[in-house]
Amino acid sequence: MATSNIEDFEKGNAAFVEAFDQDTTGALAIPPQRKALVLACMDARLHPEKVLGLEIGDAHVVRNAGGRASADALRSIAISQRLLGTQEVVVIHHTDCGMLTFKDDDIRSKIRDELGDSAGDAADGIAFLPFSDLEASVKADIRIIKEAAIVDGDVPVHGFVYDVTTGRLNPVN
Ligand SMILES: [Zn+2]
Repeated sequence: MATSNIEDFEKGNAAFVEAFDQDTTGALAIPPQRKALVLACMDARLHPEKVLGLEIGDAHVVRNAGGRASADALRSIAISQRLLGTQEVVVIHHTDCGMLTFKDDDIRSKIRDELGDSAGDAADGIAFLPFSDLEASVKADIRIIKEAAIVDGDVPVHGFVYDVTTGRLNPVN
């Protein structure tokens, strides 16, 4: 049986509930107060809220492997913009990203080897969106967001590479 953190997570939540103090006006409204959406990599060393000085209720934070402008990220951006009033997008990729370390074929064959042929067949049809150049990947995702039919083309889209060794956000122009 796989090990699990769930007991520790439940204890962590009990402590969180004990200290919970977020029932302030505004912070509990559904639309983000700062009218911003952040698309960031899921990397455990990157805490977008802390990196950007965001508080509860401030912004939407969409995360996936790489912080890529995948179809599902675009779905979230469209909902965020049309239904919840966000007017700015911030894309954050980061140094030492795991997405720099493999190609589609690597993960496809790993899935096939470890999970079997039907899993492998499914993986063959999926673009896992790894990349080999950080600035280029940020630029590509900015372009995808700006050109997406369901996204407002007038909304500014900013790009950054986060340096995991210094905590600094370096703009990508
Ligand atoms: Zn990453």
